[in-house]
Amino acid sequence: MNRKSFSSAFSKALRRVIVSESADFVNTSAVFALRVGFVISLLHFSPILRTINERSDGFHQNHMSENYYYTMPDTNMINPNNQVTAPRQTSAAAAPKKKNSLFRLFLACLLILTVFLTIGGTAYFLNDLGIINIPGMASETSAGSRKGKQKTKTDGGSKSLSGAGAAEMTVPVQGDLTGCNVILDPGHGGRDTGCVFPFNNPKYDECDFNLRIAEQVKAELEARGAVVYMTRTDNEWVSLYNRIAQTHLICMDIAKEQGILPFSAEREAELRAALQESIDINEDSVASGGMGLMVGSGVGEDLQELMEMEYELEDVFFLAIHLNSNESRTLHGTQIYYVSDESVIQSERNQMRTNSEFQRSDFPIRDEYYGRFSERSETLSYLLYDSIVGEIPEFDTNAHQVLADNYAVLREHGLTGALIEVAFLSDDNDRAILLQDGTNEKVATGIANALEYYMMQE
Ligand SMILES: [Zn+2]
Repeated sequence: MNRKSFSSAFSKALRRVIVSESADFVNTSAVFALRVGFVISLLHFSPILRTINERSDGFHQNHMSENYYYTMPDTNMINPNNQVTAPRQTSAAAAPKKKNSLFRLFLACLLILTVFLTIGGTAYFLNDLGIINIPGMASETSAGSRKGKQKTKTDGGSKSLSGAGAAEMTVPVQGDLTGCNVILDPGHGGRDTGCVFPFNNPKYDECDFNLRIAEQVKAELEARGAVVYMTRTDNEWVSLYNRIAQTHLICMDIAKEQGILPFSAEREAELRAALQESIDINEDSVASGGMGLMVGSGVGEDLQELMEMEYELEDVFFLAIHLNSNESRTLHGTQIYYVSDESVIQSERNQMRTNSEFQRSDFPIRDEYYGRFSERSETLSYLLYDSIVGEIPEFDTNAHQVLADNYAVLREHGLTGALIEVAFLSDDNDRAILLQDGTNEKVATGIANALEYYMMQE
């Protein structure tokens, strides 16, 4: 780097410190006040100031405190002379010292302020030069930088996006998902319509939207070279555990194809038979037996084996497609859910306390097994949100964008995945957009882009 570009970078950095820091000042002033308050109180209670504020005999000079001393059997108070003479002497003697203490305090504050600005300024400067990378703050060289926002912006055929786990970056969309396997799970179907609208006299069923969107996503992903599997292909009832059993079977096929199936032929046949039984029973209740090897809280040994196999399948994704509904009709936009160990533990503990199904004597409570790579799913979730809202800005939600929650279709397997609540069927504007031509294509493009970004990061 020559001197000219160095000095230009320096002046840019300096300008940024002044402009950016003063813009942020309103937001950070409360924190700053707290820091100053902390320092002042620290100094106040430090031995240096105490010796300035107090006489050597321990009599406090503050007049407000005198009442307190009168009621205390303090040795200084036993001598009545002290009560009269001491305060006067103290205030006279301490006056120059008080000035001195204020000056010291001022100096201390100034020193601390200087240290903060120096550290901050140096960090900004080094970030601008690209020597260090401050998370959430792009250097001047990367286009379209925006501080602290999780948004996708289209910028001349490339996308700049940021999200949790996704460093701000500018990447082109290649339209290539070769090597990517996606299990699409259109929510509900058959006797389970999902949410409806209007609530009392339904005209629209969620399950129909889910299937149409999923079909479009399948077409888009396949056009980019991905291999796509669907857990249901028409308006039929498919139990949750049927969907998960299908997922495990697909994963066993993929693992076998990749030569990483960790089971003996006998064990493989055993697991396949158990999973097929769940598909055939096609019911979710404990009594039906349809939960199969997925029944119970925690994770059983069979399920653990399957999940560990699935953790190794890094290019296989599970995406459930749903629509949202909100009774008070105040919420709108896209929401993405993923599952984490914490969300499962919390939810299962709660269910064991409150749900009679979990309190049956024959309900198996397993040894806990946790080890999900939930940060993978979290990263994918933010990318999905950013990319879908990048295509349809009206779907920018006023609810939580991304949440961890205990959804069975995400919990009972080991794949990186998410449940996409595309929009709120209960919201007039969301519903109007969902019914427009081209919306499903945009959602599909957003989902495909998110998978591309995710695979680029891996
Ligand atoms: Zn749903």
